[in-house]
Amino acid sequence: MDSEVRFIYLEVFLVLYPSLFGSDPLFPSALDFEVRAKDETAGSGVFTFRSWQQGEVLARMSGHVIDEVRQHTLQISPDQHNFDPYFSGYFLHSCEPNISLDMNTMLVTALSDIPSHSWLYMDYAETEDYLFKSFPCGCATPSCRGWVYGRLQQPEAELSAEQAGYAGMLGDRS
Ligand SMILES: [Zn+2]
Repeated sequence: MDSEVRFIYLEVFLVLYPSLFGSDPLFPSALDFEVRAKDETAGSGVFTFRSWQQGEVLARMSGHVIDEVRQHTLQISPDQHNFDPYFSGYFLHSCEPNISLDMNTMLVTALSDIPSHSWLYMDYAETEDYLFKSFPCGCATPSCRGWVYGRLQQPEAELSAEQAGYAGMLGDRS
């Protein structure tokens, strides 16, 4: 095959996004990332094969902009949600995430040094006002909030947990 055909073939093969999203050198490559099953509780997540430095841009997200929250959407604005069943729609949640998402530039940035062969974790409350479905958090980090909600969803359970924490602090002082 001639070199031009070969180049197109490689690009289509390696980029996680379909060609209808256009091309962007920052689009995620199958050399760096894979959407794969993690476990029964978490479902599928995005796994990275290579390491990243804190502050480094991992990729630019793309998708279909729709007007409602669904599974595999991330919020651009209250009326616009990016439906990305190829990459960013599969980021797992952690209360101590290792990536940050900018839904204006659509860039994914490393919050800390990320070793190769790691799962990528965002904080759903960073982008979402309301989640499609809230769920108990299994991140098991020291700052785990216990239950995953959108940033405008302030559940009674979380309020009472905060109040309990405050009471506990007062108790510690006395
Ligand atoms: Zn958590």
